[in-house]
Amino acid sequence: MIGLSTTKPVIDTGSFDCPKCHQQRSYQRKLIKNWISIYFIPIIPIGSSGEVLQCTKCKIEFPAKSAPQSQASDSPTSEDFAEALLVLVALDRGTPNRKVVAKLQQVLSELREQPVSSETVAALILQGQSTRYSAFEYARTTRAGISREDRIRAVVLIDELVRCPGEAHPAGLDLLDSISKALGISSTALNSLLGDLET
Ligand SMILES: [Zn+2]
Repeated sequence: MIGLSTTKPVIDTGSFDCPKCHQQRSYQRKLIKNWISIYFIPIIPIGSSGEVLQCTKCKIEFPAKSAPQSQASDSPTSEDFAEALLVLVALDRGTPNRKVVAKLQQVLSELREQPVSSETVAALILQGQSTRYSAFEYARTTRAGISREDRIRAVVLIDELVRCPGEAHPAGLDLLDSISKALGISSTALNSLLGDLET
């Protein structure tokens, strides 16, 4: 059973003026981490949706402003997003063949702007296989928090993988269409963008 789950690891402690107790209390600062989970076991991190301060006396949690550093390292980036989608698309019709794996490696290298080893690609594919999570579902659940520009970028990268040379991908093109719809990208916007790429 695949779903989404949340964990709240403690990342800091301190004291604050508790809005409920109306006096100085100690708190635990907790990061709200979101995961794709299987049978309620968190498997793939999909970013954070902020932090809370929990009063250690009344146990009530209050929204906290995130520390800038932890926000930067825990939020899903457009790269994470595009990578996850690419791997899921590659896996969509079973175990990807060598050509698709090579293409995935090339596209990931372009995305990361540095060489990506075949071991890294194999590990990503293994991680994707263990979730059996559909690319469409992933796109739908992560659309919030990803900018429109980044969403279009992800779809363009996926298109590149789907059009992997020497491979017929009719189902892949349908999937691409579903993903762009899930991400709220109009077919007009997508088509003009893909048209630009081909010239
Ligand atoms: Zn309190």
